[in-house]
Amino acid sequence: MGLLDGKTALIFGVANDHSIAWGIANALHEHGASVGFSSVESLIEKHVRPLAERIGSTFVAPCDVRDDGQIRAVFDRWGAEVGRLDILVHALAFANRADLDGLFVNTSRDGFALAMDVSAYSLVALAREARPHLAPGSSIVTLSYYGAEKVVAHYNVMGVAKAALEASVRYLAADLGPEGVRVNAISAGPVRTLAAQGIAGFKQMYSGFGAVAPLRSNITIEDVAGAAVWLASDLSRQVTGETVHVDGGFNILGVPNPDAAG
Ligand code: NAD
Repeated sequence: MGLLDGKTALIFGVANDHSIAWGIANALHEHGASVGFSSVESLIEKHVRPLAERIGSTFVAPCDVRDDGQIRAVFDRWGAEVGRLDILVHALAFANRADLDGLFVNTSRDGFALAMDVSAYSLVALAREARPHLAPGSSIVTLSYYGAEKVVAHYNVMGVAKAALEASVRYLAADLGPEGVRVNAISAGPVRTLAAQGIAGFKQMYSGFGAVAPLRSNITIEDVAGAAVWLASDLSRQVTGETVHVDGGFNILGVPNPDAAG
């Protein structure tokens, strides 16, 4: 008996097999869910479909989340081909590379709007279009980062977008709770993915993380996926509006222990 037997899941944000979204998809599948995918069109044939095939998934739909029409088309197709949706995973974000370097004060108006649109508003848009398909007991999970709470060098506008994302999780949880739909975020420690490579200084930050985090290790996509399985399952049935840290305890530190880092 799998924890997620009989459940259906739609995952937004697979770029390749390093993606957090792929780790989550794989884990949901291992626990019994049947999984579909949506990613930007340019990634689908080369990267996403071959991964989908590995776990026997045939639902692979293109979507740029800046476009309401494309979002609607994904859920219309889901409704026609699959029907009910139990688990929606939002694991995507974007900001201009120039805005993930240097000073936050230099963020352009357009760069700010773009980061907010793709990285925060898209959760609201996906939740709204998913809503007619979500049954009581279903779960929406998104991905955040500690830069939403505290200043992390170079994370800049993405930190502001993640703060908006975490606030959106709480408002969505309040809206959808009466329908039995839960909404939560996982705040993951640094993971080496395509998106992370766009952040100036990520490599140094990543390499020092395991020495400082209380659990003394780096975070893997499997670590994040474990929490996603729990949030997707009925084991977390009274948990909503939360941001769950999967960061080896890094966020509890005030000043990192200088002995640990040595
Ligand atoms: P990734 O590069 O594998 O995934 C990012 C995805 O966002 C890609 O699939 C990309 O195509 C998608 N995307 C970007 N713009 C889009 C658009 N307009 N429409 C649709 N999709 C779009 O990187 P990842 O690290 O797995 O990122 C997944 C999520 O995890 C993001 O929200 C990221 O901020 C978050 N996160 C990452 C880390 C980390 O260290 N890697 C830590 C905490 C949170």
